[in-house]
Amino acid sequence: MLSGKHVVVIPFPFGGQAWNVANLVLKLAPAAPDVRFSFLNIAKSNSLIFPPPLRSKLPSNVKVYEVSDGLPDGHHGPMEHSGEHVELFLKAAPENFGAAVNAAEQDVRKKVSCFLTDALVIFAAEMAEKMQVPWVALWVPAPYCLAAHVYIDVISELRRESSGGGTSSNNDNNDDKSLGVIPGLSMMRISDLTKELIDDQDTSRSACMLREVGRVLPRRAAAVLMNSFAEVTPTPLIADLKSKFKMLLQIGCLAVSFPPLPLPSSSTSDTTGCLTWLDARDPQSVAYICFGTVSMPSPSEVSAIGEALESTKTPFLWSIKERAMAFLPEGLQERTNAYGKFVPWAPQAQVLSHPACGVFVTHCGYNSMFESMVSGVPMVCKPFWSDNMMNGRMIEEVWGIGVKVKGGTITKSGIEKALEVVLRGKDEKEMRKKAGELRERLVEAAGPDGIAEADFKVLVKLISTS
Ligand code: UDP
Repeated sequence: MLSGKHVVVIPFPFGGQAWNVANLVLKLAPAAPDVRFSFLNIAKSNSLIFPPPLRSKLPSNVKVYEVSDGLPDGHHGPMEHSGEHVELFLKAAPENFGAAVNAAEQDVRKKVSCFLTDALVIFAAEMAEKMQVPWVALWVPAPYCLAAHVYIDVISELRRESSGGGTSSNNDNNDDKSLGVIPGLSMMRISDLTKELIDDQDTSRSACMLREVGRVLPRRAAAVLMNSFAEVTPTPLIADLKSKFKMLLQIGCLAVSFPPLPLPSSSTSDTTGCLTWLDARDPQSVAYICFGTVSMPSPSEVSAIGEALESTKTPFLWSIKERAMAFLPEGLQERTNAYGKFVPWAPQAQVLSHPACGVFVTHCGYNSMFESMVSGVPMVCKPFWSDNMMNGRMIEEVWGIGVKVKGGTITKSGIEKALEVVLRGKDEKEMRKKAGELRERLVEAAGPDGIAEADFKVLVKLISTS
């Protein structure tokens, strides 16, 4: 048997958050060199996070294993990343990951000493209990979002009250109700919560998992890690969350580029020439448009963005999914060639930190929002689901570093106005100033004297000694 501990790491493989778990392991590996990390993930997600050329450069105490994704043979392709795929993944996960843990134990010749997983991987609680080892869960979205999950029963009650005791399906008109009864959430509304979380008629595995996670974490996680900086999180929110969990650590944001990681990932290589294209643009002139790895605007919204960029002649870089290209106005690419660039993938963190980047049109995914914040770039927000709406509210109303698309749906005039406000309007300077100040606070929080540094050391100790 080898000396040291053996930590099994499991990300949630859909959307951008698997990167955060991978980045955490890459930070932990050199800090805990005696610990062996077995990274268990589905092949598709692994190929994005650790493409083969990078896999050979991993620290020697990290090994990546492939686990079945739950799709029946022959169903790869169109079904991948669909809601149905998530359901099949969740159904098969306990068995598939159980087998993978056994295989990793045999490979490493060491029993598992700790599970370190995305907090959404709640089946790990069961596994950890059976093996009598701690479960350490990383909550990837923002802290205010975790509070909504923890207070899910209070929220259900609020919805029942506001509907006069009806079921969730007839509550839609009351969703403007404030979440002020929840510590630290006075700025949020029920409408800022994702439908899957509040619709208790939705019995899909993913919706049940979302409603369950806030109940499971306080009872079963030895520690909850937050992907955030304490210095920019409202104190009442953190004080309350600390009282809910056995241990709460704020280890800083693990987004791809901040702080720089020892290993480049697929998201940092500029294969599409975005950075050289940006080099030729004026400072703070370009609108960068991207809606993350999963979300996609409707066909009419894609078309409206294109029309608005053309009518305002705004220089733009658009990371656009191939299937969305068909919805662009006819001939737009040719007509905007002199000032616009379409790419299937951009090295986003670097694009946002480029001096030419003036505004980010975003779905308000947590990683995207954070990458924009550390670059001091104001945002135009079109939230879709999950934590997007809460992030959008913080960006516009609390931090004052962006505007939401009016009415929630993208229109040509809505984008024209939003671009005008952020790039050229009377509040532009103030917004950019606030974005710069927030950036400064984040840089300081990420420094050697920040809480994240101290909490990270606690985490290293926890996984090295448990
Ligand atoms: N991303 C990127 N280039 C792209 C599209 C996305 O690098 O063209 C990265 C982005 O930088 C972010 C992640 O993908 O780190 C998306 O995560 P986020 O939490 O913002 O959204 P999700 O995809 O989970 O909805």
